[in-house]
Amino acid sequence: MTDDNRLVAGIELGGTKSIALIARGREIVELARFPTAEPQATLEALSAQIEAWQDAHGRVEAIGIGSFGPIGLDRSRADYGHITSTPKAGWSDIDLVGHFARRFSVPIGFDTDVAGAALAEHRWGAAQGCSVVLYLTIGTGIGGGVVVDGVPVHGLVHPELGHLRVRRATGDDFVGVCPFHGDCLEGLASGPAIAARAGMAGADIGDDHPVWSAVAEELAEAMAMLMLTLSPQRILIGGGVLQHRQQMFDRVRTRTAELLAGYVVGVGEAELADIIRAPGLGDRAGPLGAVALAYDS
Ligand code: ADP
Ligand code: ZN
Repeated sequence: MTDDNRLVAGIELGGTKSIALIARGREIVELARFPTAEPQATLEALSAQIEAWQDAHGRVEAIGIGSFGPIGLDRSRADYGHITSTPKAGWSDIDLVGHFARRFSVPIGFDTDVAGAALAEHRWGAAQGCSVVLYLTIGTGIGGGVVVDGVPVHGLVHPELGHLRVRRATGDDFVGVCPFHGDCLEGLASGPAIAARAGMAGADIGDDHPVWSAVAEELAEAMAMLMLTLSPQRILIGGGVLQHRQQMFDRVRTRTAELLAGYVVGVGEAELADIIRAPGLGDRAGPLGAVALAYDS
């Protein structure tokens, strides 16, 4: 599969922007970004872009869609291929796979954006050869994908690592911004949560602002929980927040090692430097995730 070079298309649907691309293997041939606006207009813009590229490059043989969630992944259910119950206005019950299947008549791969990114990191990035791979994005929300032996984990639905409830930093009483849970991980440590806690736009917060200590503590709680439950060889963290705050990686690793307290054999601070990392594919992890889903369709 890694040397599959067929021309495929990828769609990454994000909360604020969406991406269409075509690729051969891990090589992106064309890529364009669109605002994630009203659903029909957005899906129309993405499909029209792929059609325009097909005129120049030839027909795509499969399409992969990595989407924000929650999404329906059970092929025996009527909501397969749909975004299901998202708080994002207008996007509940939108049939993504149906739209692209009707328009292109090719196999469609479908999963969460973060499961796709984990798959791409396993295939081409920093998680090659790893049997258990986690990919977390910390941006407008927090999402997490889990890939085991090269296959995204699906159970009843899909993992929702961003909504774990973590032990709070001492003295931290911020109520949290998650519309479902208040102070779950996303409610405490997503981009909007960090901005709300600091009372200023994320990009304006100084690196020495106390909010980062609380965020490092709460992320480390989640890392320790994930190390204990899934024993991953990699936890790759993408998204806008840590991308601009690389120094947070060391703080999170140090605190994760302290929380694990030497109990998990072979997982001290030195090993966590290998395990908890930025994505090897950088900001291409999400788009290449859609490509990996196309090849697996
Ligand atoms: P999305 O989740 O929509 O894909 P990103 O992953 O780019 O978008 O994340 C956007 C979030 O990252 C916003 O909430 C923004 O406040 C936050 N962010 C962007 N730059 C910084 C920064 N330098 N420091 C802290 N937070 C930031
Ligand atoms: Zn939540």
